[in-house]
Amino acid sequence: MDYCCCYIDVQGFYANNVFYPREYAVLSDHGASVFSVDHELKMDQLSANDQRHVLYLTRRHHGLPFEVGKGAKIQSINDIIIAFYECNLDDDHFLAACKSKEAEDKLRALGIPRLNLGKLGATWSGIKTRFEPCSLHVNPEKCSIDAVIGMKKSR
Ligand SMILES: [Zn+2]
Repeated sequence: MDYCCCYIDVQGFYANNVFYPREYAVLSDHGASVFSVDHELKMDQLSANDQRHVLYLTRRHHGLPFEVGKGAKIQSINDIIIAFYECNLDDDHFLAACKSKEAEDKLRALGIPRLNLGKLGATWSGIKTRFEPCSLHVNPEKCSIDAVIGMKKSR
């Protein structure tokens, strides 16, 4: 039996050892959504080291720009994730699946029971679909919508 009621992924950046999300995706049997996140940090507030790391992630990892003109605030994203989990929950499906430490940390902070498929061996190359990245990306790299679709298919 599959205990998962929804799938969640996040892509973002580390600065000063804090994770700043830029994109969340949620998926269930009822549909999928992706959200741009405005973490409200500006590039010129970062150290030179963090700026280099941020640029690397934009060019080569997930393709998301660091700053965003328009996006949901982090509190709104928390409310969306909780609502998405709760409306898909039933007696047999009560875990939110994720594959990264960052998504697992968010689910833990929100008190949502979770299953980190990454700890069970799910990797990006293992679950990747041929889905094109959503429109939030300036480079066609890793998209969180692709990750949640891949996780659900691999279950
Ligand atoms: Zn995306």
